[in-house]
Amino acid sequence: MKAVVFDGNRASVQDVADPIPVPGEALVRVSVAGICNTDLEIVRGYMGFEGILGHEMVGVVEAHPDPAMIGQRVTAEINLPCGTCERCSMGLGRHCPKRTVLGILGKDGCFAEHVTMPIGNLHPVPGGVSDEAAVFTEPLAAAFEILEQLDVPRGARVLVLGDGKLGLLISMVLAHSGVVPTHVGRHLDKLRILEGLGVETMLEAALGDRLFDVVVEATGSPAGLDLALDRVRPRGTVVLKSTFHGAVTVDTAKVVIDELTILGSRCGPFAPALEALAAGTIDPTPLIAETYALSDAEAAIARAGSSGTLKVLLRP
Ligand SMILES: [Zn+2]
Ligand SMILES: [Zn+2]
Repeated sequence: MKAVVFDGNRASVQDVADPIPVPGEALVRVSVAGICNTDLEIVRGYMGFEGILGHEMVGVVEAHPDPAMIGQRVTAEINLPCGTCERCSMGLGRHCPKRTVLGILGKDGCFAEHVTMPIGNLHPVPGGVSDEAAVFTEPLAAAFEILEQLDVPRGARVLVLGDGKLGLLISMVLAHSGVVPTHVGRHLDKLRILEGLGVETMLEAALGDRLFDVVVEATGSPAGLDLALDRVRPRGTVVLKSTFHGAVTVDTAKVVIDELTILGSRCGPFAPALEALAAGTIDPTPLIAETYALSDAEAAIARAGSSGTLKVLLRP
């Protein structure tokens, strides 16, 4: 099959052997895959991953221990926990120390014609949800994770920083949940995607001296944390969503003096994401910039990495 392989230096389309499911796994034919900032960071050295890239997908089950699942459209949770360790038994499978992660850590990803996944990772895609919407389930779940971790009361002053893909999805999820955020970005054309959701959008300069109860940092840039710390009120919370290759220095004195909470946030629950897509209450498809054939993945990755580009999709 064709697949996008990162060899530690560059990502290229190669012919590789089809994956073979082991007991407990399904074989999925990938219909659409999404290029995420994490993929671009991996190509820059993040996680030291080598193998087939990609973790955002929708596909059709071709082999499954339960014959009723064959032909089912699915998306897949990306963390593959061991299922037996202490963290797994605490319900923290996404934090299993022995986990592999689709296209990120020790497990070939979905920028390929086929992928194998443990059957427990698969979620059926509701009938009315298009492939182009369903491929956003994983990043949308990551946005919902904030509400799993943090009780944000209605009326709370919430600021979302960053008008990339994840930042925009976070504001969509907050607005959907009755928390109306202020969203600061650098591109008016991207902020316009949030029009009609009640989200207050502006460029950073327009913020004046406003402070917020909760600041969600989704800039994807090392400078985002400083900006977030500047905008959170004393005893407020900064939610960190950006992942990138490299370390960031933090002004810990500010954190101590203002008694701030810094909350890291990563992958989230698929169920509310799929429910919102099925209900049509969240529509991520305006984020799609372009769809490429898998064979043009190198051009697609270059496009996804060019400044200002939102979601680039691959179609095997
Ligand atoms: Zn991602
Ligand atoms: Zn485990």
